[in-house]
Amino acid sequence: MIEELQLRITLKEEERSDILVIKSAQALNIDKEDITGVKVLRKSIDARKPKIIFNYKVAVYIREMLPKTSDYKFDYKDVPKAKPIHIIGFGPAGMYAALRCIELGFKPIVLERGKNVQDRRRDLRAINQDHFVDEDSNYCFGEGGAGTYSDGKLYTRSLKRGDVRRIFENLVFHGATDQILVDAHPHIGTNKLPKVVQNIRETILKHGGEIHFETRVTDFIIKNNTLQAIQLLNGEEMPVNRVILATGHSARDIFYLLHKKEIALEAKSFAMGVRVEHPQHIIDAIQYHCEGHRHELLPPASYSLVQQVNDRGVYSFCMCPGGFIVPAATANGEVVVNGMSPSKRNNLFANSGIVVEIDVNRDLPKYEHFGALKGLEYQKSLERMAFTAGGRSQVAPAQRLTDFVEGKLSMDLNPSSYQPGLNSAPLHSLLPKLIGSSLRKGFQAFGQKMKGYYTAEANIVGVESRTSSPVCIPRNERLEHPQIQGLFPCGEGGGYAGGIVSAAIDGERCAEAAIAGL
Ligand code: FAD
Repeated sequence: MIEELQLRITLKEEERSDILVIKSAQALNIDKEDITGVKVLRKSIDARKPKIIFNYKVAVYIREMLPKTSDYKFDYKDVPKAKPIHIIGFGPAGMYAALRCIELGFKPIVLERGKNVQDRRRDLRAINQDHFVDEDSNYCFGEGGAGTYSDGKLYTRSLKRGDVRRIFENLVFHGATDQILVDAHPHIGTNKLPKVVQNIRETILKHGGEIHFETRVTDFIIKNNTLQAIQLLNGEEMPVNRVILATGHSARDIFYLLHKKEIALEAKSFAMGVRVEHPQHIIDAIQYHCEGHRHELLPPASYSLVQQVNDRGVYSFCMCPGGFIVPAATANGEVVVNGMSPSKRNNLFANSGIVVEIDVNRDLPKYEHFGALKGLEYQKSLERMAFTAGGRSQVAPAQRLTDFVEGKLSMDLNPSSYQPGLNSAPLHSLLPKLIGSSLRKGFQAFGQKMKGYYTAEANIVGVESRTSSPVCIPRNERLEHPQIQGLFPCGEGGGYAGGIVSAAIDGERCAEAAIAGL
C-alpha cells in the first residue's frame, strides 16, 4: 500500500535521519517497522518565521518495495540515415531540440560556433585572467550555451508551457542529481553542468546525430521566401530543409544579419540593471533570523524581491546564493556581468541581478531610428559605458550599495567574487536616469522588506544587461517565421524563453514543429 502525506518537520527534528519514517508512522498510526520506505516527492523550507519548518510531501510505502527514483523512459531511435533537421546553436534549446528529433526518428545536425565544454574552460580562464573575450567561446557561447557555466537554477514560470517534469527527468537521465525532481527550487551547479551537457552530446552522437563545434553560421541563402542553405564562416554552403534557429540572445550578429536581409524582427521589452553582492552570512542572518552562522542543515539563503517604482518593475533576477559574479561579455569592448554558483553553493558571497523593466515602446525615443534593434543598441551602449568606466578591460565598474543610493563615489569597495576585479565608479551618474533612479528607489524599498539588506557591506557591479532578449524573431502558429519557410526561431534568442528550462521546452516544441509535415 502507498499513502501520500504532507509532513511538517522542525529544524531540531530534521537532525534525525529517520525522522520521515517516525513522522509518517505517527501520522498513519502504524508501526514504523511496517514502513518499507519513504519517497520524498517535494521538499521546501519555510523560513518566514523564526521557527523554521521543512515541508515535505512524501509517498509512504507500507509493506511494499520502493521503486527507483526516476523511471522515465526516453526512446531514442538510431537516426544516421534519417531525414535531417539543422539546428543552429547548442544551448538548452538546441540540445533539447536535437534530443527530441532523435526521439521522433529524425537526424539532428547541430552547428555550434563555440567549443566543447572542456576546451571552453581555457577561454573562460582567458576572460578572467587576461581580459580577452573570444567572440565564439565565452560564458554565453559554446557547448551547452549560456546554460553550462551558469548557476543551473531550474526555476521556471512556464509551468503551462510544457512538460517541465520531462525536462528534469531528461537532465537526471543525463547525470543530474535526482534531487532536482523533489526540490521546490531545484539547482544543479556550475561544477556539475558540464558533465550533464557532455552526456547529452554523447547520446546525440551515439544515435547518429551530428554536432559540429567551432562552426559559426554567417548567412542564410533564401530563394522564393524559402530557406535553401546556410553559409558557414569558412565559406561552405550547407543545403537545408528545416532549420531551428536557437542562437540565444547574445548572438547579435544573427539579429544584424536578419535585419540586413529585411527578415521581420520586432523590438521586445526587456530588463537591465546591476548585480548586487552581499556577504552570504548577511543574507543568511536576514532570511533565517539568526546571528552568526546558519544551521548546518540549512542551505545558503536566497531571496526574491520585487518593487514597483513609478509604474515600473524593479526586481531581483537570477539570485545566486554562495556564488560568483562572472564576466559574461561576448565581445571585447563591453562589460557584462551575470552570476553562477557551484552545486554546494559554498562561496562566501550572495549575488543577484537587480534589474529595471525597459518598455521599448515607451522608454527609448532616442533609439527609435534603430527600429527593431533599438533595445539591442540601448543594451550595447550600457555595456560600452561599463567597459569604459571599469578601465577598458573586463574589470567592472562598482560602488558600495549605500554610496550608489546616496549618490557618492565609493572611496573603497568591499571584497568581491568577481575575478577580473572591480573599479570604483559613480554608477549613480553613469547609468541612465531611467535605470539609475529606479534602482535607487528599489534598493531603498528592498531594505525595508529585508532588514539589513541595505548595507555598505554590499557592492553593486555593472552592468547586468543580458537578462532577456531585446529582440523577438516572430513566428506563426506552426512556429515558423511568417516570412521565411523552413526557419523556426527558437529559445531565448527568438524571445520565446527566459532561462534553461523554458529554452529546453521551446527546443522540444520547435523540433516537433519543424518535423511536422516532413
Ligand atoms: P543559449 O544558451 O544562449 O545558446 C545559444 C547557442 O547558440 C550558444 O551556444 C552559441 O554559441 C550558439 N550560437 C550563437 N550564434 C551562433 C551562430 N551564428 N552559429 C552557430 N552557433 C551560434 N538560466 C537559468 O534558468 N538558470 C540559471 O541559473 C541561469 N544562470 C545563468 C548564468 C549565466 C552566467 C548566464 C550567462 C546565463 C544564465 N541563465 C540561467 C540563462 C540561461 O543560460 C539561458 O536562458 C539559456 O541558456 C538560453 O538557452 P538558449 O538555448 O535559448 O540559448
